[in-house]
Amino acid sequence: MYTVTNPATGELVEEIPNATDAEVRAAVGRVHAGFADWRRRPATERAKIVLRAAELFAERADELAAIMTLEMGKRINEGRGEIGIVVDIFRYYGEHGPDLIADQPLAIRGGEAVIQKTPLGALLGVMPWNFPCYQVARFVAPNLVLGNTILLKHASICPRSALAIERLLHDAGVPEDVYVNTFASSRQVPAILADPRIQGVSLTGSEQAGIAVAADAGRNLKKAVLELGGSDPLIVLDTADMDETVSRTATARMRNCGQSCNAPKRMIVMADLYDEFVDKLTKRVGDYYQPGDPSDPATKLPPLASTAARDEVAGQVAKAIEQGATLRTGGHPIDRPGAYLEATVLTDVTPDMDAYHEEIFGPVVLVFRAETEEQAIAIANDSPFGLGASVWGTDPDRMRRVAERIESGMVYLNSAGGSQADLPFGGIKRSGMGRELGPAGIEEFMNQKSIRL
Ligand code: NDP
Repeated sequence: MYTVTNPATGELVEEIPNATDAEVRAAVGRVHAGFADWRRRPATERAKIVLRAAELFAERADELAAIMTLEMGKRINEGRGEIGIVVDIFRYYGEHGPDLIADQPLAIRGGEAVIQKTPLGALLGVMPWNFPCYQVARFVAPNLVLGNTILLKHASICPRSALAIERLLHDAGVPEDVYVNTFASSRQVPAILADPRIQGVSLTGSEQAGIAVAADAGRNLKKAVLELGGSDPLIVLDTADMDETVSRTATARMRNCGQSCNAPKRMIVMADLYDEFVDKLTKRVGDYYQPGDPSDPATKLPPLASTAARDEVAGQVAKAIEQGATLRTGGHPIDRPGAYLEATVLTDVTPDMDAYHEEIFGPVVLVFRAETEEQAIAIANDSPFGLGASVWGTDPDRMRRVAERIESGMVYLNSAGGSQADLPFGGIKRSGMGRELGPAGIEEFMNQKSIRL
């Protein structure tokens, strides 16, 4: 069942039954059939449609933001911000896509070759609820320009976002059989991947979903791109302005109520700054994030996406405390309707505790003390995840030196949790495989065909 439940109130808004197996097979048939014409169109024509989609996202920002607020509790202004980056992504691939997929001449021993960059065919996207539009955009915009077609299975708590995106793309001129939304359940995904008409899958979501989908893709020898969880380290080496550092790092962690894969979840602070950082962060987090209605722009602390998500995070926090972590502030579900959890700061989390190794997908900050730069790097790398990271300080050479030693797919200096259309995004280790965005993002489902002239 696809279900809209307002996480700010707990009110059940709408239920939509899952697609039947026959409907799912028909949807696969449509995107397979749609490929024949779409791939033959000039890249510039596909890019023009993608640019039109960018315009429509900009025009419909308020409507889309309101849907996301209703379905998963995102603060309304953050929803508008999300659509801003979606517009950038569609614009980036609309403007640069045709050049990125142009034939590439190659001088080779004894002659010449050309690398022709062609699409693979119909792809499946399995997408999560935390950024209902942005996650879809990262997969869809480059693949539409390349000439692939898309079957999209969105998270079961955001069917209205799924339908609004499908409508928008069709309104922009994407043919109806080139982008198809399906209300398939996750149990129907293995059959979709076993279907020879589907050539690959991109999933953003949890490790468990990634493992299941990668296994099905592997069994069927299909390419998979996985963007999974993270527990990004944020290293504070030194600072010229502690208030500013605390304010910006806290904001980065609390964005989207802490439900971002690349949020800085583990703050690693040099020993000489640690006490001041923890005190100021605790105050900042405790004072600033009051619960409220996410559709009110003044609200600081929205609900999590669901009570299940809230209970999961509250359970992780309770377990950390039971195992010996120090609770500095927050830590409890808030006694009001909806999926609210106090903004939380934990310290003294050690490797023998579960919280040290897990991703905590909510408004919870872990702070670690590092005696040396070496130790800071060691703590940063002591994680099963390797999505993003950030290094904060005043000395660019030192920050760069530290950044180069962090095991992750991305490192930001003096900023955290960001994403931009022209910068590749993705992780290593248990954070997944493959890249989205930037030039790399259009190559994942591409046949780079060598033609020896
Ligand atoms: P899921 O990973 O379960 O959901 C993401 C998508 O995967 C949804 O469309 C979901 O469908 C689908 N899915 C789930 N299981 C399977 C499966 N076995 N086979 C095929 N598709 C599947 O996210 P949750 O809502 O369970 O979130 C749990 C945790 O995942 C979070 O706490 C966080 O750690 C992580 N997460 C990370 C995200 C990221 O941005 N990297 C985004 C969201 C979650 P359906 O909704 O129908 O179950």
